[in-house]
Amino acid sequence: MPNDKFAFIDEEVAALKEQGLFINIRTIDSPQEAWTVVDGRKVLNFCSNNYLGLADHPKLKEAAKKAIDKWGVGPAAVRTIAGTMDIHLDLERRMAAFKRVEAAVSFQSGFVANQAAIPSLVGKDDVIFSDELNHASIIDGCRLSRAKIVRYPHCDPDGLEEVIQAEPKTYGRGMVVSDGVFSMDGDVAPLDRLYEVAQRHNLILMVDDAHGEGVLGEGGRGIVDHFGLHGKVDVEVGTFSKAFGVMGGCVAGSERVMDYLRQKARPFLFSSAVTPADVAACIAAVDVLEGSTELVDQLWENTRYFKGEMKRLGFDTGFSTTPITPVMLGEAPLAKEFSRRLLEEGLFAMAIGFPTVPRGKARIRVMMSAIHSKEDLDKGLSIFNKVGKELGVV
Ligand code: PMP
Repeated sequence: MPNDKFAFIDEEVAALKEQGLFINIRTIDSPQEAWTVVDGRKVLNFCSNNYLGLADHPKLKEAAKKAIDKWGVGPAAVRTIAGTMDIHLDLERRMAAFKRVEAAVSFQSGFVANQAAIPSLVGKDDVIFSDELNHASIIDGCRLSRAKIVRYPHCDPDGLEEVIQAEPKTYGRGMVVSDGVFSMDGDVAPLDRLYEVAQRHNLILMVDDAHGEGVLGEGGRGIVDHFGLHGKVDVEVGTFSKAFGVMGGCVAGSERVMDYLRQKARPFLFSSAVTPADVAACIAAVDVLEGSTELVDQLWENTRYFKGEMKRLGFDTGFSTTPITPVMLGEAPLAKEFSRRLLEEGLFAMAIGFPTVPRGKARIRVMMSAIHSKEDLDKGLSIFNKVGKELGVV
């Protein structure tokens, strides 16, 4: 009997279970609303990235349906062969205008946008200075580029300066890359100061604004708008899967850099284009955002209220200054138990543990949305209070 080639899987899974790190994947059976059907029960949804409620917005759904009638369901080609439809170019023009930059290129996801941008701009003779808490898709994009990766202390421009100074000047190009809003902690990168450092050393500056678009800046124009750094940040990566409520990614910046990505970015050359329905829904999302700041304002009002009350109840919400609200619990088994009890009480918020966050920093991650009513927020607060007391957290 030959050895079992996959025995390692049983060992790994057993270890994950023992450490409380095995992920129980929940199933959603309704639109992403404030109340959502999870594993067959309607519960309060504090878990999705549907910041503005656009995932189930009538205008976006209508646009997607019309696009299917006009263009069909799939582009059936990569962008550089036969997959570029005029609707893709329309979205890219609209995004460039929305973000107040020269040009934008759309991709299949935010994750893919990082794989597209980073390896196109730096390679094996180059160096990337990367915030130590950057998102996995940035880390993978950096690895794929084969450039040397030098981590700098989280959100620390002086620490960045130090690692740049310490790096022998034998490399070709250099890049500084950071999340805009950190997805697990909800803090905002000091982009104005990172820009000063990058500028001083003539380094490419790239920010992943996945959680800043639709949230920060005027009417949700993102972190660059928030800091007034238009024309100064070389590469802005974004996603259509969070505040925009759809699916897809985007890279924005100068015409010159975007034209180069159209020639070089491997997901653009080797993976088929986004479907017309998704693209049309993204354009409708831009319409909604450009039409009114109401949803973004409501998101921030909900965020202020919920976080203020959570602190008053005695919860530790970390360093967040955005709608991402981590409820810090420490060890993964406690976070898992907390999440399980929340769901029993009718609230959906997942526990996040290693490797998504460092060991010992497990948490419940609450995502605020503009679609939560005051009653929803109060209901959520009372469930948190109940479970928090029961498990000795507050
Ligand atoms: N960057 C960051 C900072 C993210 O949080 C995410 C989503 N988790 C992504 C990129 C990937 O975006 P998408 O889901 O569109 O692939």
